[in-house]
Amino acid sequence: MPRQRPDKSKIVQEIGQYVSRAEIVFQKSPSSANLLIKKAKSLAMRYRLKLPSQLKRRMCKHCDAFLVPGVNCRVRNKDRKIIYTCFACKKYSRIGY
Ligand SMILES: [Zn+2]
Repeated sequence: MPRQRPDKSKIVQEIGQYVSRAEIVFQKSPSSANLLIKKAKSLAMRYRLKLPSQLKRRMCKHCDAFLVPGVNCRVRNKDRKIIYTCFACKKYSRIGY
């Protein structure tokens, strides 16, 4: 069975939907939000997509947690970088600007 390649922009859209759904679910149960993030991430990996930065900063690259600033992550600026500290795994993600 030949596998057809879906449109990349469609998949990015789908990933965005996962993230926005995680946003809604997060208040009720953070763990299922993390599951949605995991799904979104595996989609991105399967199609080797580069995630847009606004999606990237909503998830922890170490433990796939959905990050909500002020709730389960800390956001600080340092040396022209934004540093996200994940409270779940206590690791940092740095995003330059
Ligand atoms: Zn983490």
